[in-house]
Amino acid sequence: MALIITDECINCDVCEPECPNEAIHLGLEIYEIDPTRCTECVGHFDEPQCVQVCPVACIPLDPRHVESRETLWQKYQRLQGPVPADSPTR
Ligand code: SF4
Ligand code: SF4
Repeated sequence: MALIITDECINCDVCEPECPNEAIHLGLEIYEIDPTRCTECVGHFDEPQCVQVCPVACIPLDPRHVESRETLWQKYQRLQGPVPADSPTR
């Protein structure tokens, strides 16, 4: 499931550089997450990094983009290229 930034975002700019998939960009009014690039940080970190740093807790899961962990992993592989099966991140 991708995450989504709600209109409570204060445009603090903290989350954008933390995203390992470059999924976060400033939209017309607030920051936005590209659901085709958000893996919930699967493949990179145990927890979503944007959620960890957001000072106003405005990044919930997006119910419009429900995905299994396997699907998120496949998205990660598509974005990053194949990773050896014995990779410690798997
Ligand atoms: S959960 Fe991870 S991949 Fe998704 S937008 Fe946040 S930092 Fe980026
Ligand atoms: S960290 Fe939170 S408040 Fe700051 S830009 Fe990102 S979503 Fe908006």
